[in-house]
Amino acid sequence: MAYNEGQDPIETCYPKEIMCSEHLPNGKLVEFFIRFRRGAEPEFLKTLGLLREKNARELYGFYDANLEKDEAYVGFFMDISNIKDMTPEKIAEEFKKTEGVLEVRFSQRMLKDLIIDELFFPLLVGGERSFTLRVESFGALLKRLYEKFGTGAAVILYEMGVSLGESKVEGLVKKYKVDKQTALKIILAERSAKGWCIAEAEEANGKRAVIVARELFECLPFRNKQEKPVSQLFRGYLAGIFQRLYGKSFTVSEVECIAKGDSVCRFLVEAAK
Ligand SMILES: [Zn+2]
Repeated sequence: MAYNEGQDPIETCYPKEIMCSEHLPNGKLVEFFIRFRRGAEPEFLKTLGLLREKNARELYGFYDANLEKDEAYVGFFMDISNIKDMTPEKIAEEFKKTEGVLEVRFSQRMLKDLIIDELFFPLLVGGERSFTLRVESFGALLKRLYEKFGTGAAVILYEMGVSLGESKVEGLVKKYKVDKQTALKIILAERSAKGWCIAEAEEANGKRAVIVARELFECLPFRNKQEKPVSQLFRGYLAGIFQRLYGKSFTVSEVECIAKGDSVCRFLVEAAK
């Protein structure tokens, strides 16, 4: 595993923030987009350093390189409330003068102390068009589903999970052409990169597997609140993955769940007899 052996990944991992919005009381927030020739990073950082000396503070940013075009760009939020005599226009001019910089854009349309990203769209995760959903919202959605449809909701969620798992395997096989074990490893690693949970296979073969999921988004809203395991979507997802990988039926049962007070969610995957 990528994290240090014997250490709890929940404690050793840092969160990954997606650039979306920033609220800073008494701040004056601006968003910048700067595109430059690859290799011009030191000049860009020099300009940024000069702005920092004037008390500009960058709050969040990301870097993306385009090897084909030999270009890179950065996006970041900056608080300029403590800079004297500098407007966003003037700061943009400073960046434009920087050697290797090809394009500068900025946005400052929201309230003074709240900024929401308006320069970047669509949101890509691993190069694929994605959208985000808060774990809390998903929990509310699940609760409503169960209120309205009772046990029918569990069936719907499980089937949705199966189709997600099946299409995941199909996409992956097309993209990477890997063997079954590697495909499973990639799929589980991606769950953490995409914020679902930290998943790990304790054992896995064509007949049986034990999958441990930490902080699973589906069960988090119910932590310590239920008497039975609650995962249906992820349970179905695992079934879909194993069925498509091995070309036969699997049953998946959640034997431990954070909803009923366990420390992790643990799934037992078994080939149907
Ligand atoms: Zn669970």
